[in-house]
Amino acid sequence: MSTAYDPSNIFGKILRGEIPAHKVYEDEQTLAFMDVMPQGEGHTLVVPKAPARGLLDADPESLAALIRVVQKVGRAVKQAFQADGLTLFQYNEPAGGQTVFHLHFHLVPRHEGVPLKRHEGGMADQAVLAEHAARIRAALEA
Ligand code: AMP
Repeated sequence: MSTAYDPSNIFGKILRGEIPAHKVYEDEQTLAFMDVMPQGEGHTLVVPKAPARGLLDADPESLAALIRVVQKVGRAVKQAFQADGLTLFQYNEPAGGQTVFHLHFHLVPRHEGVPLKRHEGGMADQAVLAEHAARIRAALEA
């Protein structure tokens, strides 16, 4: 199996504007948008614009920028959903659970006693995702 970065992955397409996404934050190096199959309300993905398949092949400078945005968006996500906590996860390679081969962090706001839904469960309603993205953008602007 090749472990080279393949730009045809779905997040590469989102970064190039070839397919839509419910964006919540963007800067020169980073993009954050809603996961279409959320494991909890407000499930957000943060990706670097620089090509990297996963954590292990990423450029350290790009990773440093990414984690700053993970913290910034993480605060906003937690606030937007009045969550009790925040779960981060990040998978590498199929054996590590990865299905989209462009580095990304998952951010899921968590409430006491509410379990995570299954990874890649159902597609969320687009209108609901749009509303959740707006809530997170508002928290980022507050
Ligand atoms: P993984 O590579 O296992 O960390 O998971 C990839 C994640 O991307 C899953 O949680 C999917 O629900 C999510 N996903 C797949 N396609 C899209 C898309 N077009 N827009 C937003 N999220 C997506």
